[in-house]
Amino acid sequence: MARAFAKISFTPNVQAVQTEMGSRTAYRTAELGDTETVALSEFEQAFITERDSFYQATVSQSGWPYVQHRGGPAGFLKILDEQTIGYADFSGNRQYLSVGNLRGDDRVSLLLMDYPGRQRLKIWGRARVVNEGSEPELLAKLELADFRAPIERGIVIHVEAFDWNCPKYITPRYSQREVEALLVQTRQQQPATATPHVQAVLGNGALPLTISGIRQLSPRIRAYELRHSDDEPLPSYRAGAHLRVPIALPDGTITSRAYSLTDAPDERDCYHIAVLRIDEGEGGSSALHDGWQIGARLNVDAPDNYFSLHDDDRPALLIAGGIGITPIKAMTETLAARGTAFQLHYTGRTPQYMAFIKDLQRQFSDRCRFYFSQAQNPTRLDVSGLLANASTDTVFYVCGPTRLIDSVRQTARQLGIADDRVQFESFN
Ligand SMILES: Cc1cc2nc3c(=O)[nH]c(=O)nc-3n(C[C@H](O)[C@H](O)[C@H](O)COP(=O)(O)OP(=O)(O)OC[C@H]3O[C@@H](n4cnc5c(N)ncnc54)[C@H](O)[C@@H]3O)c2cc1C
Repeated sequence: MARAFAKISFTPNVQAVQTEMGSRTAYRTAELGDTETVALSEFEQAFITERDSFYQATVSQSGWPYVQHRGGPAGFLKILDEQTIGYADFSGNRQYLSVGNLRGDDRVSLLLMDYPGRQRLKIWGRARVVNEGSEPELLAKLELADFRAPIERGIVIHVEAFDWNCPKYITPRYSQREVEALLVQTRQQQPATATPHVQAVLGNGALPLTISGIRQLSPRIRAYELRHSDDEPLPSYRAGAHLRVPIALPDGTITSRAYSLTDAPDERDCYHIAVLRIDEGEGGSSALHDGWQIGARLNVDAPDNYFSLHDDDRPALLIAGGIGITPIKAMTETLAARGTAFQLHYTGRTPQYMAFIKDLQRQFSDRCRFYFSQAQNPTRLDVSGLLANASTDTVFYVCGPTRLIDSVRQTARQLGIADDRVQFESFN
């Protein structure tokens, strides 16, 4: 299935540069076959309605592109249906550059940024101007309930293509509203009497790391980005690896916990881990959530791996339960990058509690299935069906609750699948 964005944007000049730079083969497949039917899924729709700004490029009569920043209350860019978006155009500096450009060329290109989440969505479309006189009902749909600025017109965009970008060079930035929400969340999670125990440098390993980014992935899961403290390249690792990190408990003792590296090992400048806060137990994960701050330094050992991905071309069937998605995500990205066939089955309580679900859906929608045990209409993983229908050379990987791992291993044995084709990792 050809990706609509590739058909639009991979012009002969772009293709020539891809060829010169060696990326043409990888991108060529995106153009093959009939063009996909473009429809914004619930993920794109949710992303669009959360934005409070975006950039819009139009094409002027002279051929110059013109990029405009548009801002408003979150949700001012409205979803009209799965192929149409629109916004109200308020009176501004009266230059009318974008609206004027649309008279000659209706093509627009939008860039929507989520800086804290390090995600960006590109949209290509054809825009038209909607007036009070001609289409009052449509214009009314673009109005904002609590925003009383005078609307001059509406802009309605028929979406012809969209694409998600790689998050690599997006610096996390936070608006005042986002900082306030994070502060509220942090205050709720910290007992008023407990002072987080922060030390200058934790741990005795030979690898000095600095915490360079923190991101809330779900109500109880935080992602951490770690870089070499002296900006040196980090030791390489293979998908499935984990890092053992030092943690200061509230009583001052130093303990350590293992956390899987969540990204494909193609970047040598940072490691990513994601930590579920567990309030029972010895308190390692909650002390980490409370005590780890950007700029803090850790001395760790190089990553270790008890859950390695196979190197050959055999297909993989990956099963993740809850926070067990962490090594499985790195495996998924690695398999996709090297062109090995895989399927991912990811189960959790509800989408809200499942880390990386949007990223995975966006990147691998055709190869992922999600199951929600506590949704209004629960969906359940059929382990027997999955294993029984897999090809005889499939390698299985499972990470998650003990119950899930046991179920996969037992079912595999019943089906006569050799133990060495079933790889698993337990966090307990
Ligand atoms: C190789 C490896 C990789 C790991 N990767 C990750 C990771 O990517 N992200 C992550 O959040 N944790 C991961 N863990 C688990 C992590 O090391 C800690 O065990 C976890 O953070 C709990 O620590 P704690 O001190 O809060 O609780 P502990 O006192 O260590 O544990 C409390 C109780 O919770 C159980 N437990 C541990 N992990 C879980 C879990 N995920 N769900 C339910 N119960 C659990 C323990 O067995 C124990 O019974 C990994 C563990 C291993 C061995």
